[in-house]
Amino acid sequence: MEIFITDIDVKDVRFPTSLLADGSDAMHTDPDYSCAYVTLKTNKGIEGYGLTFTLGRGTEIVVQACKSMSYLVKGQKVTEIFANFGSFWRKLTSETQLRWLGPEKGVTHLATAAIINALWDLWARLENKPVWKLLVDLTPEQLVSTIDFRYITDVITKEEVIKMLKESEKGKTEREELLKKNGYPAYTTQVGWLGYSDEKMKTLCKKFLDLGFTSFKAKVGQNLKDDIRRCKLIREMIGNENKLMVDANQIWDVNESIEWMKELEQFKPIWIEEPTSPDDILGHAKIAEALRPHGIGVATGEMCANRVIFKQLLQAKAIDYCQIDSARIGGINEILAVYFMCKKLGVPVCPHAGGIGLCEMVQHLQMWDFVSLSGSTDDRVIEYVDQQHEYFEHPVRIHNACYMPPMSSGYSTKLKDNCIKNYIHPDGIQWKQMYEKGLFQKISC
Ligand SMILES: [Mg+2]
Repeated sequence: MEIFITDIDVKDVRFPTSLLADGSDAMHTDPDYSCAYVTLKTNKGIEGYGLTFTLGRGTEIVVQACKSMSYLVKGQKVTEIFANFGSFWRKLTSETQLRWLGPEKGVTHLATAAIINALWDLWARLENKPVWKLLVDLTPEQLVSTIDFRYITDVITKEEVIKMLKESEKGKTEREELLKKNGYPAYTTQVGWLGYSDEKMKTLCKKFLDLGFTSFKAKVGQNLKDDIRRCKLIREMIGNENKLMVDANQIWDVNESIEWMKELEQFKPIWIEEPTSPDDILGHAKIAEALRPHGIGVATGEMCANRVIFKQLLQAKAIDYCQIDSARIGGINEILAVYFMCKKLGVPVCPHAGGIGLCEMVQHLQMWDFVSLSGSTDDRVIEYVDQQHEYFEHPVRIHNACYMPPMSSGYSTKLKDNCIKNYIHPDGIQWKQMYEKGLFQKISC
């Protein structure tokens, strides 16, 4: 039976994380972790679920962008989409009128990610595999056919990628077994959200040390004195044998980043994440060059607009760690292109995660990279935050500070029905109660 996409449903789902300062950083002081949640329906009854992550207000705009793009997806045969996924991706991102709102950046690209993620979830469900395994089992030619190489062929070509994948085939089976046995290393950001008290940070350091974590990240950037106190506290708690990273979430100018980080060098952070504007490629290059002699690398990517910005960051030697995000650039198809450029230019990928569904999704990508591409976990680690997993039907499983490979089919993106009933915005059961209690003010738009 030919399978068609018969309908698309898009929902605005929000969680009140700002109440406890969860997720707070130098630039986003009160995030309410949220998502635009896409459900693709088919004539076979099987559905695909995808999302893009947002911080609360504005989710309704992403939802509308998904709806505006949905006519391109509705009525399509799924076999035709997946047989020519790169072309289909270009159709979505190059829609002749909608592209004026991007192109390939901002709200329309967030919406692209939500729809594309739902398509991969659907594909994996139809194949009865988790997405990481679907990716591992695709032939190099099939994998390459999912990518739009426009704008990046000066750095990487289809032919090079096919060769790269074929060269990495040796040892794939052994690596898959290793992955199933040991999982993939995680680090935690949860000890150092900017809005947390020193006591809370201490308790959380102890909790994650006891769980076996060896890498910890702290938010910095609002006040140097506070940063020194907080980094000192974390370093004392985790000792010198464990790794520390710091994250400024874009708050600094270029020279300020360099000067500020020299003050934090004493705590031996391995990277400074998002020191400045995500669009400033040459600025990142200047920071990276200045901080390398101090043993501090530069990491960025969670707000990179698209593969072109990643390409230039890599070309300019502006990043030492590449932080792809599963819900920002145009979904898996475009993220794969970034992995291949990183492989070619020798930069490890350490995915951004933590927001709604991000841990659930990026684990699939990094596991595929380990089995099929880089073949290594050296200098590589996946971000982990222990929040909002209970809302998913197949939440991440962490064992000995490692992500264990998901075994259920799909992209781990399906929210529980009950979660949607409670947190759909603005009329979910929990939201109504919070408005009644005066915890939030209802803003109509
Ligand atoms: Mg970050």
